[in-house]
Amino acid sequence: MIRTYDGILAKHPALLGSEPTDLKAFGVCCGPGWLPILKSLFDDFEKIRQEDGLTITVFQVKEKFGELRVYVRGGNDRVQHRLRDAEWDAMFTCEDCGGRSPGVQSLGGGLNNLCGACRKKLRQSWKGR
Ligand SMILES: [Zn+2]
Repeated sequence: MIRTYDGILAKHPALLGSEPTDLKAFGVCCGPGWLPILKSLFDDFEKIRQEDGLTITVFQVKEKFGELRVYVRGGNDRVQHRLRDAEWDAMFTCEDCGGRSPGVQSLGGGLNNLCGACRKKLRQSWKGR
């Protein structure tokens, strides 16, 4: 799995908490296609944190069973609502290229969330081995 940091964490130190977390240790553990969703999510978390005077700690971001999972401590209904929107967006977004995906599908014994072109590319890369 590709790990992409892309400045998201550096931009939002207030959302990372003071304790050691999986996010700090391993970074954002999902493909680059979901980065725009995550950038916007972190920006909105920061906005809500300031507006509502909250302590929000994002402690893990990863792909699991083809879905985006963002684990947050603290927060309120606005945070949860915004989080569900992002996870829903990712459900139909190709994890590799950010294009439209048909949703979670099984491929090669695992679950992933890729568009047709990226599925094809992945299958071809397996044949080359
Ligand atoms: Zn794709």
